[in-house]
Amino acid sequence: MRVVRTVAQLREALEYMRQGGHTPIGFVPTMGYLHEGHASLLRRAGEMSSTVVMSIFVNPLQFGPNEDFASYPRDEVRDLELAEREGADIVFIPSVEEMYPQPIRTKVSVSSLTTQLCGASRPGHFDGVTTVVSKLFNIVQPDYAFFGLKDAQQVAVLRRMVSDLNMNVEIIACPIVRENDGLALSSRNVYLSAQERSQALVLSRSLQSVRQAMEEGKVRTVDDARNLLVSVISSSPLAVIDYAEILTFPELETLDGSSLLTDADGEIIMALAVKFGRTRLIDNNVFIPKEAHALV
Ligand code: AMP
Repeated sequence: MRVVRTVAQLREALEYMRQGGHTPIGFVPTMGYLHEGHASLLRRAGEMSSTVVMSIFVNPLQFGPNEDFASYPRDEVRDLELAEREGADIVFIPSVEEMYPQPIRTKVSVSSLTTQLCGASRPGHFDGVTTVVSKLFNIVQPDYAFFGLKDAQQVAVLRRMVSDLNMNVEIIACPIVRENDGLALSSRNVYLSAQERSQALVLSRSLQSVRQAMEEGKVRTVDDARNLLVSVISSSPLAVIDYAEILTFPELETLDGSSLLTDADGEIIMALAVKFGRTRLIDNNVFIPKEAHALV
């Protein structure tokens, strides 16, 4: 495994791999503090690609002024061990100065899909994501790029960006990896106190409750489902709901509250953002209500 810190070194390393015929190239962008969720992306990349590139970059552009850019957890030594163990061939760890040597005057921005959910709570966040991912795609020129459905809105936004701008890369969406008790893995879970950690289980539990209630025919409308999400989450005294929404996926359009879930064509997303103390956690479930119902 090669560790490179500059764009020039990365391009040279990739050129070497391409000349040796080690294609396709799979790319896994991350912000580091790696866990089993990131490992699952590396493994999927390894199955589909001859060269696996991972980037580790905490991108200041996607953090708001009052967010946790400065305190975002970092552990390069541990990250490199995990990357090597999970089969990365090249790890790109640029500095902020390397990625932004001059004030950036060009932005990539996806409209409409970025105004709701995390886009509403974190203004400018997705512009930061689409801009840095565009830069990384231009540098790496991967055949495949792997993203987790943990950040489902990010997947929807990036798919649209790639399609709108004819980028020559296929976005591969990978399933959410959870702890045994259901908590979705996140680098930010280290911020949680023991008490917050145990109450945070209401996120996955609320999603599960709606799925089960739907299958039992106890939840039929969009409003029923949203109310059940909110009531399960509110049973945890420390939970402060940022949003609990049910939208179409991947278009992220609102559904009429009184409409039946099973009337929705295609996939829908139940998406949550909930604060525990100063830690904001997200979770979601994407599914096809017609099929979920048919399972009964
Ligand atoms: P991050 O380092 O948090 O920016 O995440 C890098 C990539 O890993 C993104 O595509 C995330 O969606 C993905 N990821 C983070 N947590 C998980 C998880 N629990 N399961 C699957 N993918 C994840």
